[in-house]
Amino acid sequence: MSDTVVRAYAADGFVRAFAASVKDIVSFAKEAHGTSPVCTAALGRLLAAGTMMGSMMKGHADVLTLLVRCDGPIGGLCVTADSQGNVKGYVNEPLVMLPPKADHHFDVGGALGNGILSVIRDLGLKEPYVGEVELQTGEIAEDLTYYFASSEQTPSVVGLGVLMNKDNTVAQAGGFIIQLMPDCPEDVISTLEQNIKSIPSVTEMLAGGMSPQDILAKTLTGLNPEVTDTLSPKYLCNCSRDRYAKGLMSLGKKDLDSLIQGEEDIEVVCRFCGKKYTFSAEDLREMRDGNA
Ligand SMILES: [Zn+2]
Repeated sequence: MSDTVVRAYAADGFVRAFAASVKDIVSFAKEAHGTSPVCTAALGRLLAAGTMMGSMMKGHADVLTLLVRCDGPIGGLCVTADSQGNVKGYVNEPLVMLPPKADHHFDVGGALGNGILSVIRDLGLKEPYVGEVELQTGEIAEDLTYYFASSEQTPSVVGLGVLMNKDNTVAQAGGFIIQLMPDCPEDVISTLEQNIKSIPSVTEMLAGGMSPQDILAKTLTGLNPEVTDTLSPKYLCNCSRDRYAKGLMSLGKKDLDSLIQGEEDIEVVCRFCGKKYTFSAEDLREMRDGNA
């Protein structure tokens, strides 16, 4: 099954819901960054959230950024998404290893520690919309649940999960977000609460062969869910040699001078996809002298 994001409504529009399966995206991220298992889990959960939250945006050029600044050994992580659910991301310290927790799950909360989750929506207006909350557990799903409740006043249920194979490849990755719209009737809320209590974890559902549609059908049992869209998100980085050249040129003469060490090439590595771009001393001199 290729990566999918499904958007749905239920209970006559009082509930909106998203579910995603992003195994290929998380596998790509793991290969691009060489992440350790706990870092793959942390980044994978944030990528799963990003793909669903990206798909909540309307405009074609809208950009969502999920940024975690934290004091744990992972040192922070970042994911950006577009309105088609395409994502990219990185962690600051991709090699961090931590023993699993008592329940055998990855210690994502331990890797993140304390910190701030920022949700930045650039909707093409003058200023981006920024919401910030303190990390609650660092497990990401709980932190986003808290973010939606406190910053967007939208009660939500968020489930995110990454399951690794023994050989350290990604077995399953995905999640769901279910949100209550204003004036949601009590009986809808209690039905949803009952459903959520009885469902297995995201990775158990995916490993059991359930698709994002199936996950929504199960979590929204009794609430007449109706799928409105199905997207095929990708790990998409828009970096190019040209973008990096422009970045270097914007450094100014003094900084470019300090980069020019004899005739040695300099290599720039994209933080999001790991792609390498090489600039020769000659390239840098041309940029410095304004001939590029
Ligand atoms: Zn890139």
